[in-house]
Amino acid sequence: MPFQLGQRGEGPASDAVRFQQQGQVDWTRLSADSVNASIQILSRISAAGIDPFTIVMGQAIGGSLLWRDEGRKRFDEALQSCRGLASYRNVLWFGFGVKHVAHVLTATDQGAVCAGLCSCVAECYTTAYAAGIMMEMTKISNPPAEFTPSLLQWRNLVHSCAGLVSSSTFALCAEQFMRFSGDLRVASRHSQCDHNYPGRGISHKTQIAEALLGLAKLSRGVLFQMTIVGGADAGFLAALADWLLGLDVEVRGGKEQETLFRNCTLDKQPQLIIMYDDNAQPNGLQCVGKTYRLPDASGILTSEDGALQWTLLGGRVPWESALDWTFGGYFRKLLGMKQACGAAIGSAARIYQALSDGDESFGDAKEDWRFQCRTYFSDSHGLALVHFITQRFPELGNLHETMGLNARASTVQKAWMVFESSMTSISTGCGCQRCSGELARGQGPHGHFCLVFLVYTILHLSRALSGIVTQLRPTRVGLEILYDQVLYDGLNHPVVAGEHLMQKAAPNNATVTSQQRLSRAQLIFGGDRGHGQTYLVKSDSTWTSAMAINGLCYCYDILLRPSFSSAQAARICVVNGRIEHNGRAYDHLSDGGQNTPPSSGLFPGGAPGFSRYLLERLADSNGSRLEVLVSERFDGLAFEYAVCKDSNTLMTFGPAKVVDSMSHNEGLVSCARKGHCTESPQVPDLLKAIALCSQEKKTFCRLKHGQEEFVLVLGDIVSKLMAIDASWTPIVQRDECLACCVRSGVRRGNKSITIIMGGGGARDAALA
Ligand SMILES: [Zn+2]
Ligand SMILES: [Zn+2]
Ligand SMILES: [Zn+2]
Ligand SMILES: [Zn+2]
Repeated sequence: MPFQLGQRGEGPASDAVRFQQQGQVDWTRLSADSVNASIQILSRISAAGIDPFTIVMGQAIGGSLLWRDEGRKRFDEALQSCRGLASYRNVLWFGFGVKHVAHVLTATDQGAVCAGLCSCVAECYTTAYAAGIMMEMTKISNPPAEFTPSLLQWRNLVHSCAGLVSSSTFALCAEQFMRFSGDLRVASRHSQCDHNYPGRGISHKTQIAEALLGLAKLSRGVLFQMTIVGGADAGFLAALADWLLGLDVEVRGGKEQETLFRNCTLDKQPQLIIMYDDNAQPNGLQCVGKTYRLPDASGILTSEDGALQWTLLGGRVPWESALDWTFGGYFRKLLGMKQACGAAIGSAARIYQALSDGDESFGDAKEDWRFQCRTYFSDSHGLALVHFITQRFPELGNLHETMGLNARASTVQKAWMVFESSMTSISTGCGCQRCSGELARGQGPHGHFCLVFLVYTILHLSRALSGIVTQLRPTRVGLEILYDQVLYDGLNHPVVAGEHLMQKAAPNNATVTSQQRLSRAQLIFGGDRGHGQTYLVKSDSTWTSAMAINGLCYCYDILLRPSFSSAQAARICVVNGRIEHNGRAYDHLSDGGQNTPPSSGLFPGGAPGFSRYLLERLADSNGSRLEVLVSERFDGLAFEYAVCKDSNTLMTFGPAKVVDSMSHNEGLVSCARKGHCTESPQVPDLLKAIALCSQEKKTFCRLKHGQEEFVLVLGDIVSKLMAIDASWTPIVQRDECLACCVRSGVRRGNKSITIIMGGGGARDAALA
């Protein structure tokens, strides 16, 4: 009888018999078999770019492993915890949708083991490396030649399973075991330079595949005991055996090879023994049963396949000790400088506060910082940032008081002085090659972490996290590479320089900083696994609003619910899965339609400000609604918001570009916010106009006052989104008073000034 794809066979053991015997695939039996699949199932498999035969082979490989109930339960829980998010008007789904191909695979036990295996490997290595391991596992099992799916097919299968276990404890468990190998760093080289230094290393995929087949034999009871000797890869296999398969595992390490972990009682012999080979003589190890050795093959891998040099082996770190697990003794040394470290972070929070407030006392020299800044979340500056940091990283709890004290500094100049002096004393205490001035500018300290840059890393990390919503834990690799990036950004500046406080613009394009927030989220939670694949900054005209890499999806909040506040709209949500539309999964969502701003010819008198194009549409926009337009492109999907009235489309705009305009134009108005601001001569006339327009329910009012012409956008979210998209450097009012907004516009020297009114505007109007 043929077996059914995506469906459990008749009787509890029927599929099991097909796929395994003695822990090995029975090819003779399998090749005589036939397969049935419904058109429904076939369409789902084909939508994922997988051919049905690869699913059969996946089940065959999965069938060679037998998991215990604990393993199956953990995997089922991971599957159930994969929640997704619906876009506005439910046009897209971010996550694993109900029709996702992973559900076809997990319908049977063998398929579920295969999905579990693929997702666990992809979690710590990469999709590409996991595909290579699956291919090697197939090859070693000696199938008839025509039975081996291509590497591309394995890649597509792994790609569909990646992310399934990302929010579970698997990667945490894996990182815990990998840490036993004792390497200071994961990466053994920087992306930016060619220096090599000790890192975690990685084993050859063939040797990992052999060890995995060994675990298969253990799980089927064909083999009673085995030992794996290696580095971090051995730790990964320990986690897989413990978490996914539920085998009895003992992990040994240290000089005396003492037991570091054991999941079975002492009267029982563990099935799997893991040993780390860092210092010990391989011959001196007490190996039990069949022994697998996993030597570091990073050197070979780099020359074998250039793309694999970016496979960095790592798991996730717990929030409670994220910094300790990543930066180890260097972080503990930094914590020892309690006063200096707390003062540095606290005064930096005060400086970020000034940036967010558009504080003019900040100084003209740093004016460009205000234009560069894109981070305006409630927790990204001032005291709120201090509270956020201590909540997110309890390891820094001891610094809370000092941080808070310095975040309250009365002026930004005071904060600046404290920042410089405390960073200087951290630098003295660090005493690394760079801090002690032994290295020329542009040269990086290698093989250790510099405490000064560790502080900058904590600041950048916290600021990034203040705008990210997720259930996931950060990756160890991501935190380490973030440090590398911060270090390399800063190599050309003196050790203590305010420039380090700012997130650098992308290398070739200074205007894509909100897009950079998206790639930073990918770095922290995905560990930069998309290196070389990232669509960001691909070309000047591509704005990315969502992307999926290695099983995780990153999207702006504005795709879920349109809002006119960058604190909401620019938030990044990170979930497991991909971007789904009509049952298909995609990896990239870009802004549709035209991405260029209206040409300057449209502006009255050629002056920047507002366009006739915008005003005509704004006048019509009362009572309009927001629709979503999605279209397919070669490299993914395009997404546009359309402002529709009756059956007409008034205007369309891209979500990513709007998010950038919003956060670009915020934080540029300096206002005391306490009613102590100097009045502007234009304000009484403007308030009268606003009152009149509000009565007539107009979406904007326009009036000339002296040299300047003003457009005040009053309407609802839709009108404001239209205005932010189609006007040139508008003033975005949040809680700043109108007088200060006007002054800020006049100061910029524009003849036409667009003010998009916010909460403060409503208050001003009520006072009139
Ligand atoms: Zn270097
Ligand atoms: Zn240093
Ligand atoms: Zn920086
Ligand atoms: Zn003011």
